[in-house]
Amino acid sequence: MVAAIEIDDLRKEYGDVTALDGVSLTVPEGSFFGLLGPNGAGKTTFINVLVGLVRKSGGTARVFGHGVEADYRAARDCIGLAPQEFNVDRFFPIREVLEHKAGYHGIPASEARERADEVLKQVGIYEKRDTRFDWLSGGMKRRFLIARALVTEPDLLILDEPTAGVDVQLRHDLWELITDLNESGTTILLTTHYIEEAERLCDEVAILDSGEVVTVSSPDELMDRGTDRITVTFRN
Ligand code: ATP
Repeated sequence: MVAAIEIDDLRKEYGDVTALDGVSLTVPEGSFFGLLGPNGAGKTTFINVLVGLVRKSGGTARVFGHGVEADYRAARDCIGLAPQEFNVDRFFPIREVLEHKAGYHGIPASEARERADEVLKQVGIYEKRDTRFDWLSGGMKRRFLIARALVTEPDLLILDEPTAGVDVQLRHDLWELITDLNESGTTILLTTHYIEEAERLCDEVAILDSGEVVTVSSPDELMDRGTDRITVTFRN
């Protein structure tokens, strides 16, 4: 079976800064994989290489067997990304934003609205379909970013710190939503600072520190062993 993500000796340098220093990882299809690490560990850079936003300096990176640079379009089409930053078109109602994205990815106009409505319902903000992104609450914005990632029916959903700074209730709601997505077959790569989040959700966790993989294990093993080599923020 081809892995969802297969990374070997991945490197990324930004000038003098080494953001990824020989990362090797395999994320099995269907799994819920956590990437933990302190600020500056390289988590976002890792994601940006996968989605083609930054060029790697060395090594190989494949998504469902497609090289992220050599076979960019095929690799990118497998991925839905809910980024940390709210880089959303603010002038259109959210349903239209989703329709535009669906159209851009080749979904015919006759199906785009249906697809947009489906994902808005899936994440629980269908009643806000005619609202602009800026007018959504913080929690709805998070949900919308997930809806936007899902509109192209990706095999791999990448969530970059989806629960950073949200209240406890919303965090639990988002956990339920992404667990359901994983149970329905979507492979998930989640980055987080919260070890208890990784423990609750993930099958397997990699800890990244200063651009290197410090450990890959089940969340239970991680808790048993402790995380003394790095500082991971604990928050409730
Ligand atoms: P956080 O948890 O704070 O989001 P992170 O684990 O996602 O951090 P990255 O954002 O990937 O870490 O950053 C890894 C390193 O690369 C850091 O030292 C950062 O300052 C540096 N870096 C990231 N992007 C750039 C860039 N465009 N130019 C120069 N350095 C960068």
